[in-house]
Amino acid sequence: MKVTKLDHIGIAVKNMDEALAFYRDTLGLSSVGEEVIDEQKVKVAFLPLGDTELELLESTSPDGPVAKFIEKRGEGIQHVALRVENIEEALKELKEKGFRLIDQQPRYGAGNAKIAFLHPKATGGILLEISERE
Ligand code: ZN
Repeated sequence: MKVTKLDHIGIAVKNMDEALAFYRDTLGLSSVGEEVIDEQKVKVAFLPLGDTELELLESTSPDGPVAKFIEKRGEGIQHVALRVENIEEALKELKEKGFRLIDQQPRYGAGNAKIAFLHPKATGGILLEISERE
């Protein structure tokens, strides 16, 4: 498997507008690619930063994974995403090595990425996303 870069850091926020007031208006980052992903009950905004990005995540439903995360742990860093060259190959290799995966198959992520999550029990406590983008 080839990991090429830190793709983004996912940050769970309660209120996207308030979060953007800080990241965009105070820190001066620009927000691109705001998108609702119904399947994951989440609204996201990407803030490019050098060679990587911050991903703000606001739940669109009280029973979505981001809402549950905030309920348990509060707002903050929810996941770290690494870019891989070939996600199918990466998942196959991880499966063969016995790593616990949340997604057995790649699914659709924001910005037309193919993404999959590894279980935090397999990664020393970090919810790790792998992502393949054009
Ligand atoms: Zn992400």
